[in-house]
Amino acid sequence: MDYGELLSEAMEAARPVLGRGAPADYIPALACADPADFGMALATVDGEVHGVGEWRKAFSIQSVSKLFALALALSHGGTTLWQRVGREPSGNPFNSLIQLESEHGIPRNPFINAGALVVTDALLSLTGDARGAVVDFLRAESGNMSIDTDHAIAASEAGHGHRNAALAHFMASFGNLHNEVEEVLEHYFAQCSISADCRDLALAGSFLARHGLRADGSRLLGRGDAKRINAVLLTCGTYDAAGEFAYRVGLPGKSGVGGGILAIVPGRGAICAWSPGLDAVGNSVGAMAALEDFTSRSDWSVF
Ligand code: GLU
Repeated sequence: MDYGELLSEAMEAARPVLGRGAPADYIPALACADPADFGMALATVDGEVHGVGEWRKAFSIQSVSKLFALALALSHGGTTLWQRVGREPSGNPFNSLIQLESEHGIPRNPFINAGALVVTDALLSLTGDARGAVVDFLRAESGNMSIDTDHAIAASEAGHGHRNAALAHFMASFGNLHNEVEEVLEHYFAQCSISADCRDLALAGSFLARHGLRADGSRLLGRGDAKRINAVLLTCGTYDAAGEFAYRVGLPGKSGVGGGILAIVPGRGAICAWSPGLDAVGNSVGAMAALEDFTSRSDWSVF
C-alpha cells in the first residue's frame, strides 16, 4: 500500500474545508493558531512512519493527552480507577458540570474533563508526577526528547481554568480526588499543554494498535486493557460527537482542542491528523475530513 499517496490524497480531500472552524479561544494562548494549518502522519505497528503537510510542526496536544494518562494509570496498577470514573458517553460538552451532581461526583468517562481530572489524580498518586509520566512516555515511544510542556500555554490554561477548577473542587467534595485540588489542576494543565507533532503522536499511540505492546516490545498493558481503551475511545473519545466520528471515520480516536485527532487501527497502526480550526463541539474540521477520506479509501478500518 502506498501510504504516502493515500496521505496526500487525504490532505487534498480536506483542503476545501481547511480554514473553516476556529481555533479554541477559551484558552487565549491557543487562539492565535492558524485554522488552515494541516498535518497528518501514520505509524505502522512496525514503526514505519509516513507524513504529509505540516506533520513535523508541534502543536498543543490538549485532550489527546488523556488517552496516554489513562493507559499509564492502568499500567501502574490503577485497578480501582473504574470505581471512580465511568465508561459511558456523556452526551454533554467535554467541560460540562451538569451530570456530576446527580451522579455523585463520578464522571461519565475518562475523556471528558472531569474524568480526565480523576485519571490525572490517580496517576499522580501512582507515580508522584503525572505530567512527567506522560512526557516520558511520549518521548520514549517517539524517540523525540524535545517533547515537553509549553509553559506559556499551561499558564494561559491555569489563568482561565475556572471551569476545570470548579469540576475538580466539586469532585473533591465527593471525595473523588485524593490529592490537593491545586496540585491535580497543575498536572492536568501541564499534561494538556504538552507540545508534540503528528509523527510523535502516531508513534506514541501505536501501543494501542499493538494490543498493549510498547515500541521496544515490552508490555505496557494487557490485551484486555488495550481493547477496553480502544472501545472507550470509540464511544467517548471525540466529545459529544463520538457518534458522528464513528459514522464518518469509524475508528477509536481522541481529539483535542489544539486541533489534533489521534486514531487507532488495531493490528495496523495509528494515524494523527491536525488542523486548528474546530467545529462547534471542539473537533478539528480538517482532521476529521482527512481521516474520513483516509479510512474510506484504505483498508485501515475496523469496520
Ligand atoms: N485543557 C483543555 C481543557 O481542559 C482540554 C480540552 C480538550 O482538548 O478537550 O479545557
